[in-house]
Amino acid sequence: MLTLQNYINGKWVDSKAGEYWDVVNPASQEVMAKVPGGAAADVDAAATAAAAGFKEWKRITPGKRIQYLFHLKRLLEENINELSKTITLESGKTFAEAKAEWIRAIENVENACGIPALMQGDFSEDIATGIDEYMIRQPLGVCACISPFNFPGMIPFWFLPYAIACGNTFIIKPSEKVPLTMTKVMELIDRLDLPAGVVNMVHGGKVVVDGLLEHPVIKAISFVGSSAIARYVYGKGAANGKRVQAQGGAKNPVIILPDADIDMTSQIVVDSVYGCAGQRCLAASTIITVGDHKDITESIVELSRKRTTGFGLDENVLMGPVITAASKTRINSLIDKGVAEGGKVLVDGRNAKIPGYEQGNFIQPTIIENVPLNGELAGTEIFGPVMSLAHINTIEDAIAYINGNKYGNMACIFTSSGLHARKFRNEADAGNIGINIGVAAPVAQFPFSGWKESFFGDLHGQGKHAIEFFTQTKVVIERWLKEWTRKF
Ligand code: NAD
Repeated sequence: MLTLQNYINGKWVDSKAGEYWDVVNPASQEVMAKVPGGAAADVDAAATAAAAGFKEWKRITPGKRIQYLFHLKRLLEENINELSKTITLESGKTFAEAKAEWIRAIENVENACGIPALMQGDFSEDIATGIDEYMIRQPLGVCACISPFNFPGMIPFWFLPYAIACGNTFIIKPSEKVPLTMTKVMELIDRLDLPAGVVNMVHGGKVVVDGLLEHPVIKAISFVGSSAIARYVYGKGAANGKRVQAQGGAKNPVIILPDADIDMTSQIVVDSVYGCAGQRCLAASTIITVGDHKDITESIVELSRKRTTGFGLDENVLMGPVITAASKTRINSLIDKGVAEGGKVLVDGRNAKIPGYEQGNFIQPTIIENVPLNGELAGTEIFGPVMSLAHINTIEDAIAYINGNKYGNMACIFTSSGLHARKFRNEADAGNIGINIGVAAPVAQFPFSGWKESFFGDLHGQGKHAIEFFTQTKVVIERWLKEWTRKF
């Protein structure tokens, strides 16, 4: 059995963990490896190495630092199939979904290669007679990221390329449920010949998270995961004087107006709800039809029934299992809850049987109609392949419903009216807006802009926010007098 190691100071080392956990293929329940639960001593070793590495790394010019990223991009592209297969095996998503995830990860490496221009400062000549003022950006020091299970490859890349291109050193804590993907990435990073300590990885759970939040040399924490843990990480990190960006959970509403194109809208909505088995923070979850809804409901039901569920490496499979048996139980009981609240099950995925994968954590596409919008199901992040369908009479009421939602990760509208789309864009309280788009995932040059309980902090991942987050500004005011200048 493969036992995973940490990567610290440019070397593979055993964890000091007291316990090890199984890494399980969610489609078959095969145990693929053991991952260390982590120890404070592991964090200390990584932080010490990263602090020592920072002294050398910050002196290397941005232009030279990005050469390592160009090399990393090539290695990721050359190994994309194996990296994608690893994601499928440990997270359950399909091979095509895993590959799409890597394209997004690589985009961030490409974007960070623009750091020499992106981290440029500002200069004002003559703020007073003979005095100039300028601002330069400098790295913070040791930064760390804590990532969730659902994008084992992409999410660390929302942070890592920017952090190191800006001159920081880095520690990655992957999700203990999917630690194999980042282990493969670290094997590639090992081939870059980076100075020791620039990129480190520590496996584990809460012990490692707390170690990172408490360690005095760590200056900044990037977290992505559920809202409850995001709030905890934000509070504890800030109390320990760290910069924190903590992206949390979601419950994404989609409004369909009567003038929306039925075929396009139903296909996009179904892809959004069931992509990655609903385990995306940008998965559509509550679908709200405004006004007449008979035709769109029929179309959505038909497409949902057709969606093939199975093992993500098998051909023609469009949806894999959910991550753990516990998740499957939780999602099934939320469907039961929706029914108890008065919802009607239009498509029932609770008793999925996938030949050859009878032990897998499969739930097939599920639709519950007329879920009360003030009920528990409508307010809970399901994180599974379950669509709640609701009907509201006016766009104003639909927007008011969205704005009362405690999450603000994404909200979408489907319409052929520019005026309604504009009203929605202007009035909906969510940080990522889709207009005839089902997954409004910002590309690398834009911030991933969650609002409300979907985000704790001020600077989001990606885009210019990443440069702000991973640098500190230094302002210099400078005077040179004529009298001091020797004549020669
Ligand atoms: P999670 O919160 O359970 O875990 C995230 C990380 O926190 C993991 O590395 C885990 O080891 C650690 N952790 C878990 N419990 C902890 C505790 N008690 N104390 C300290 N650390 C702890 O999230 P998950 O189940 O891995 O991921 C799914 C969640 O992530 C969903 O809520 C989803 O919406 C959210 N998510 C959000 C975004 C976003 O950008 N907003 C992106 C992806 C996923």
